[in-house]
Amino acid sequence: MESNADKLRTLTITSLDEEDDEPELPHRSPSGGGGGDGGSADYEDEDEDDEEEEAEVTLGFLEKPKREGLLLRHLFPSKAGGIPAWLDPVNFPSGNSSFCGFCGEPLQFVLQIYAPIEDNAVAFHRTLFMFMCPSMACLLRDQHNQWKHRQGNPCRSVKVFRCQLPRCNAFYSSEPPKHNDSDRPLCPGAPVCHWCGTWKGDKICGSCKKARYCSEKHQAQHWRSGHKNDCLQLISSSEASSSAQPTVGKVPASKSWPEYEIAIDYEGAFDSDSCDEGSSKSLVMQRHSKPDDMMQSWMDQFEADADNKCWASFQERVSRAPQQVLRYCRESNAKPLWALSSGFPSNADIPSCSYCKGPLCYEFQIMPQLLYYFGVKNEPDSLDWATIVVYTCQGSCNQNVSYKEEFAWVQLYPTTTTKP
Ligand SMILES: [Zn+2]
Ligand SMILES: [Zn+2]
Ligand SMILES: [Zn+2]
Ligand SMILES: [Zn+2]
Repeated sequence: MESNADKLRTLTITSLDEEDDEPELPHRSPSGGGGGDGGSADYEDEDEDDEEEEAEVTLGFLEKPKREGLLLRHLFPSKAGGIPAWLDPVNFPSGNSSFCGFCGEPLQFVLQIYAPIEDNAVAFHRTLFMFMCPSMACLLRDQHNQWKHRQGNPCRSVKVFRCQLPRCNAFYSSEPPKHNDSDRPLCPGAPVCHWCGTWKGDKICGSCKKARYCSEKHQAQHWRSGHKNDCLQLISSSEASSSAQPTVGKVPASKSWPEYEIAIDYEGAFDSDSCDEGSSKSLVMQRHSKPDDMMQSWMDQFEADADNKCWASFQERVSRAPQQVLRYCRESNAKPLWALSSGFPSNADIPSCSYCKGPLCYEFQIMPQLLYYFGVKNEPDSLDWATIVVYTCQGSCNQNVSYKEEFAWVQLYPTTTTKP
């Protein structure tokens, strides 16, 4: 019961289990598939002045994991912060993929969304991973550069990778996880960097031959922050006894953003026009309480802007559920919600899939509330964005590499873009 509820509350656009009809509770997940069927019709937005039918948007909220081990890769989690639960735990993004295109630092894990596609056998499991350089200077350059290259932009500080697997694969059972202690992946993953815990650790410390790193930068940082001493101990203890292997240290040793589980609700469940489900709605609203203040401070900040109309409708839409960190919708009529009427791409600005050359379509966007949960301070050089919108291959193609890079569009606030 408990574990089943956990599962339903995680963003699983299509689940392994075949759930029948969705009970009509606003906080249940659309595990019926595609976000388009299941109970979604119950939550249709019935605004009279909508000229076309709006696609049902699924919102993501952050919650502290209820217990350890819930966000491991064989449970196909949707999560933010911490380290990635790589779907393919062996063939990581390689080469320059893991580095910021501007400062060259390895990128930091932002979030991952488990979003399989029901009628695509090669995407029976499918997870999208987002990474970012924590430097605002790099995000500004990224945003600036995205206009310059009409057909793709190899230099990025924000990267999104898509990984997918068929039901029968080398890494996981073809049966859904039971959510008890018997769940295990079929094989161990590749060793990761002891500093970031994120990228493949294919460089080994020359002295102890135990600590592994994704890059020389992380080796240097780990060395300075304590491996210098630990390394000697590792050498002497492994000389004394080869059987008792001391561990290199906790992975990751560096600071990642705090870890959360992503729980979801349909946006329609927060619609102020459909208040007859009062009690369950207010329960949902209470679950996420903090960033209301944040909304208020944005409102104050933007009151004077020329972009007022777009901002006001963004604000109105977001205020239905102010704690949302993620908006997800892969339906063909889905559109991103832009905060500003300038600084978003035309169709020509969105490249085609670099693997199959097919079109990309909007799939999800992250919201600035995420920064609040990540504890990012509101200082001049702090990371900040209005929204980051992700476009993925419409056909969710399955060519070449295991982790396919998708396309992210960064929209910054005018106050940030005019910063020196
Ligand atoms: Zn950078
Ligand atoms: Zn690393
Ligand atoms: Zn060492
Ligand atoms: Zn493609």
